[in-house]
Amino acid sequence: MKEVTIIGLGSMGSAMATVLLEKGYQVHTWNRSPHKAETLVAKGARYVPTVGEAIRASKTSIVCVSDYAASREVLDHEDARAALSGRTVLQLSTGSPQQARDFGAWMLGLGANYLDGAIAASPSQIGNPEAAIFFSGSKAAYDENEDMIERLAGYAPFLGEKVSAASTTDLAFLAYLFAAYIGFFHAARIMESDGLDVDHLGQLIASISPMIGDVMKYEGEVIHRAQFDQPQTSLHTCMVTIELLLQQASEAGMNNDFPVFAERMFSRAIQDGYGNEEVAALVKTLR
Ligand code: NAP
Repeated sequence: MKEVTIIGLGSMGSAMATVLLEKGYQVHTWNRSPHKAETLVAKGARYVPTVGEAIRASKTSIVCVSDYAASREVLDHEDARAALSGRTVLQLSTGSPQQARDFGAWMLGLGANYLDGAIAASPSQIGNPEAAIFFSGSKAAYDENEDMIERLAGYAPFLGEKVSAASTTDLAFLAYLFAAYIGFFHAARIMESDGLDVDHLGQLIASISPMIGDVMKYEGEVIHRAQFDQPQTSLHTCMVTIELLLQQASEAGMNNDFPVFAERMFSRAIQDGYGNEEVAALVKTLR
């Protein structure tokens, strides 16, 4: 039977433990508050009373606690440190790139194989095709656990041996997501201002999201190749739309924080001389 240890049984750790139990894994668990293991134990998991014992129970341990400071607090005990030598650790707590580098160096010093991961999914999506987890660090650790990783997330790319790559990519994705949230909530106000249903807008965006993905892929390639001078969509063209957003907010008497912010960003890029270049030229102003 395939075995894994899961350290941290919050919403995310519990979701991963549940999925792996359903997929036939023997799951050894540890959590600071032991009562959180009760439901999992009823489903067939094993609760192990100490972290050192939990690490020794399987070749691979997944650590999924609030943050890297908590991961360090959990693992930085003599018994746990000694148990880590020759074992594999998958860190799935969220952290910064520097925290990933520091944690990776600490694990290496203790003789553990270290794979850093960043989860881009909610607990209820774990085990589904739409769940995404980014990995970087030890390729051997990724290969050794590929079967288990595939059971946790439909999209789980290995981003390279640079240990910070997963958390950097996760933060880049989150920057995109949070800008999309702000845009969506302003969009919700636009819909409301004309008496339209906001849930229809959510459905519409879900339907056209492959097109949005294609656009972002294209802009990423433009930045990578530094080829801004043959625009499909110029900064000037985008500015016309932003002015329309400002006009609509004024006409509807609604909050205009988002279009004011967008207008400031795009104006700066146009002042820098990029108006007739591809919209991605805004990155040159950000640099
Ligand atoms: P959670 O439900 O709040 O659970 C937090 C876990 O961390 C609990 O097991 C808690 O133990 C443990 N913990 C916190 N501080 C600790 C310490 N000092 N020593 C030992 N254990 C400690 O959080 P979660 O949703 O499971 O999230 C876990 C990680 O997944 C986070 O890094 C989060 O950013 C990431 N993540 C979560 C989501 C999500 O939607 N939930 C999505 C993507 C990524 P106790 O039970 O004893 O308090």
